[in-house]
Amino acid sequence: MSARFPAVFVSHGSPSMVLEQCPTRDFLLGLGRDLGRPKGIVAVTAHWNTATARVSGHLQPPTIHDFGGFAEELYQLGYPAPGDPVLAKRVLSLLHASGIEGERDLSRGFDHGTWAPLMLIYPDADIPVVQLSVQPQLGARHHLALGEALRPLRDEGVLILASGSATHNLRDFFGRALDDEPLPYAKEFASWLREAVVQGRVDDLLAWQERAPHALRNHPTPEHFLPLLVALGTGGPGSMLHDGFTYGALSMAAFRWD
Ligand code: ZN
Repeated sequence: MSARFPAVFVSHGSPSMVLEQCPTRDFLLGLGRDLGRPKGIVAVTAHWNTATARVSGHLQPPTIHDFGGFAEELYQLGYPAPGDPVLAKRVLSLLHASGIEGERDLSRGFDHGTWAPLMLIYPDADIPVVQLSVQPQLGARHHLALGEALRPLRDEGVLILASGSATHNLRDFFGRALDDEPLPYAKEFASWLREAVVQGRVDDLLAWQERAPHALRNHPTPEHFLPLLVALGTGGPGSMLHDGFTYGALSMAAFRWD
């Protein structure tokens, strides 16, 4: 028997977070111990945007440094966890069984939506990881359906780790300091999000672009919010794991669904 794993959403923040001392880094460093050791991880990453669902099937995925203008040290980091082609096929079969189009991608490596948080959560990099892309053109309900399709994995010892950002206005991020005060419009959105998740308001979360305060300002594009909807779709009561802000504009909120 495998333990039932929660689905987790983390805000991965700036790629530099893996090197910076801040409360979110400390939280992520303790998270693996709290969650326990899964057989595999499905990482739903904001940094892989595709027209239809894609699942990474690489046996030993390379690390992708998919960002520019950060400290040289970051470009030397790698996350050498193995892939898991069998788990990738399982993910695809669950999607197809739910009528969701999807295919394997045999060349995709780990982007920083995946490796930055995992480097802190499971630093030994010895748990196989499969990535799932998001489809910004397909909207909120599609991502909830992805989560619903993947729900059985939680009973198969697999951790669903959704990685995005609770708020994500990069124009306001650049030029600010790590411990700047949260911007009011971002704080307001993050508070709304926390209450909606904890109260299980799925309809509000699906209509987040209309109902959340300053939604478009916090997410000029939706890809960093969509992984949260996948985790939500796996079901169970939601609770907050971590709260906080970096650079004034980036909420570092993390949630779990049990
Ligand atoms: Zn990001």
